[in-house]
Amino acid sequence: MQTEPVYLSEPYLRRMSAKALEILPESAKRFRLLLDNTVFYPMGGGQPTDQGILRWDDSPQAKVYQVMMKEGEIWHYLEPLQPERFLLEVGQQVEGEIDWERRYQNMRVHTGGHLVDFALFRLGLVPEILKPLKGDHGKKPFVLYEGSLASHPKLSLDILTQAVAELIKEERKLSWEFVPLEVLQNDAIYLQPGLPIHKPLRKLTLDGVGSVADGGTLVQNTAEVGSLTVIAIDEKNGQVKVSYQL
Ligand SMILES: [Zn+2]
Repeated sequence: MQTEPVYLSEPYLRRMSAKALEILPESAKRFRLLLDNTVFYPMGGGQPTDQGILRWDDSPQAKVYQVMMKEGEIWHYLEPLQPERFLLEVGQQVEGEIDWERRYQNMRVHTGGHLVDFALFRLGLVPEILKPLKGDHGKKPFVLYEGSLASHPKLSLDILTQAVAELIKEERKLSWEFVPLEVLQNDAIYLQPGLPIHKPLRKLTLDGVGSVADGGTLVQNTAEVGSLTVIAIDEKNGQVKVSYQL
């Protein structure tokens, strides 16, 4: 990967200065751009794309409408504000700023999914009864497990919501660091299938509770999630889907 993924170590950073490495036309009025570093989170791992703005020549020049990981590279998809005067060259320096309101909401929703997961771990269900498969932290957030709750009929929306509320009330610290796979295999409460091979492996730790592998952006204290409600626990075809909202 040619781009330093700054969002992985510094999720609260909103702005950056970066060098253009490659520019390709995407359509008549759209382009995609590769940079040497970025604070823009590329859509993936269930977290929506960041959006924002790029500036050069002292003024806003393009909207970043989407960021995607493609063949191991982070591409910024651009809509120039004045397509007929879009001038950006390889080697040129650009300033970028993400739509922070959107990103912060995504960070809170994504962290909320992990709190549901850590709460299920504390309740003794993850990973033995419920094996984590994936999560989605967009407009209808959920976490998905392989398994069945048939032998645990007592788990209700209220009990799980309450278990998450405790983690939030305890104001626990979330921290992350890059580690080799062996460290994750040793420290994590479980390893989910399909760990990304193009991203650095990152260990997320909820202080006093446990660690998991994670590549998204997170808030640094459970209190920032605010309040979370588990709205559905659906079981179907050997899978359990836990839906929630902030
Ligand atoms: Zn995650």
